[in-house]
Amino acid sequence: MPPDFTFAAFDEFCQRLSHMPVFTVAAYLARSVQPPTPFIILRLDVDYRDRNAVHMARIAERYHLRASFYFRRHAAGFDLDAIQAVAELDHEVGYHFETLDTCQGNFEQAEDLLLDHLEELRAAGLPILTAASHGAIPTAPTYHHNFDLFERVPDLFERADLLGETTLSIDFGKVTYLSDASWHWRRYPHFRPDIKGQPTSLHIISNDLVRRDAGLYINFHPHQWFAHPASTLYYRTRSRIGRHVLPWIKRYRLKNPV
Ligand SMILES: [Zn+2]
Repeated sequence: MPPDFTFAAFDEFCQRLSHMPVFTVAAYLARSVQPPTPFIILRLDVDYRDRNAVHMARIAERYHLRASFYFRRHAAGFDLDAIQAVAELDHEVGYHFETLDTCQGNFEQAEDLLLDHLEELRAAGLPILTAASHGAIPTAPTYHHNFDLFERVPDLFERADLLGETTLSIDFGKVTYLSDASWHWRRYPHFRPDIKGQPTSLHIISNDLVRRDAGLYINFHPHQWFAHPASTLYYRTRSRIGRHVLPWIKRYRLKNPV
């Protein structure tokens, strides 16, 4: 298998999925009964580098796979060109929301902002059926996760005209969740937020696809996937330095002011 976190590895993985029933999140939630195993739910959380998502959308389309791509609203706004390009390939496009983070935990403001952003996407002709909560450190003590918004305001799904949210609306007793978040593949047999999964790899997941009882819900983060292994190595190392070394330097400077 080509090196993990490269488009070549994603291509090979999609090729293996091409003979299996693969659902978008919306298509899975719209079903009245659980699909027979084996099946896959394919989700991609586009945190940034939206162009990488367009590449991955093209690769999946080559194997006639449909996936759900969730886009964040950046400081400069939504990357509508990238989102339209993915939607034109018949993938599901959804909203990757973080409005409780943005509004420092103010639920009323976060709700208004979420509805505004959904309207903005729909005004661009994009049919948004589902949303995915972005995971980050909370910006206020009033909440733990961005999806708390939907838990606290139960009729918000209806008012936002959404089928569901990618964590709250899934019964994790029926699917095994797999995620490549922070460049580490992890497996969650009974996913719950804040629980650390078991380490795994794309190679092991590929072998799991042949299991007859496989009901796998797989989440890729396109900003971690590149055309060349050298780019993967560069950005992965840079991210590691950012996550481990920079906080250490900050702590050191606070303790030892010049
Ligand atoms: Zn995210």
